[in-house]
Amino acid sequence: MEQVTVIGDRLTIHRPWNGDGTASAPEAFHRQGLAFGDVLYRDVSSLRVGIVGCGATGSATAMLLARLGAQRLILFDPDRVEHTNLSRLQGATHQDADRQRLKVDVVGDMVEGFGLGARAVRITEWVGHPSARDALKSCDIIFGCTDDHDGRTLLNRLAFIYAIPVIDMGIRIDPRDPGQPVREAAGRVTVLQPGARCLMCRRVINGRRAASEHLERTNPGEYERQAREGYVVGVAGPNPAVVHLTTDVAAMAVDELVHRLSGYRAAGSCDHRVRQFHMMADRQPGTAETGECRICEDPRDWSKGDSLQPFLGRIG
Ligand SMILES: [Zn+2]
Repeated sequence: MEQVTVIGDRLTIHRPWNGDGTASAPEAFHRQGLAFGDVLYRDVSSLRVGIVGCGATGSATAMLLARLGAQRLILFDPDRVEHTNLSRLQGATHQDADRQRLKVDVVGDMVEGFGLGARAVRITEWVGHPSARDALKSCDIIFGCTDDHDGRTLLNRLAFIYAIPVIDMGIRIDPRDPGQPVREAAGRVTVLQPGARCLMCRRVINGRRAASEHLERTNPGEYERQAREGYVVGVAGPNPAVVHLTTDVAAMAVDELVHRLSGYRAAGSCDHRVRQFHMMADRQPGTAETGECRICEDPRDWSKGDSLQPFLGRIG
């Protein structure tokens, strides 16, 4: 046995070679040690952390985790850098866009370049591809940084069936005319794991949009046909995004991990936090119990892992 991780309101890691826990962190982490002790570095550096999606929030999450001392990152993203990404993709340069470099390479090279010990494994398949499964299952914790509803649906199931905590994040900006206050600008961080509520129940995932994305990926011809007839949803253009808001959401998500490792927040942990930037307010919306959710209200499949076949209980 390599490691025992206890998940819940806190995340506790037991590794046999942690010794008596008094070994000091490298000099670079002295100031964060003054705040939370060297134990934070030891915990963060021992975690294998997945980051699904290396766009605005994913690149910021990777940057923050590497600066905190994370050593083992696994980056998932098939996309390449475009010029429209440069306003918010941490680590990306004009040259990266000219060369259409893979986002996982840009973000991976950035965090390795810090010289703080981070190494990044790069997975260039879509997260739902069978070849990405072993890497996903090997993670101690996963940050969900995708705006792909189909990918989120997978992480939503994985968190409960493999008992791997997923810290999922998203941002929504509903603009009005320039110069007018927006209708809404909100960032969200949701923790998924057995005992918490899932993204379906919290109405974060749009099931029809997930189905449309799945069809587009698996059967483009049929997707085009249905799109012409108006049967598919969520095909609108790119969503609004601004770097200081996407980076703030990533910081909220990383803060949730830091609290769960260190216990530093007097307010405790939070499974679902919505920051309303336009109101300068943080909210923690609740979710009604229905007793009907097969994922988060019925514990029969929790922690079943590989014994549940097919993978994640899906047909096909
Ligand atoms: Zn649920």
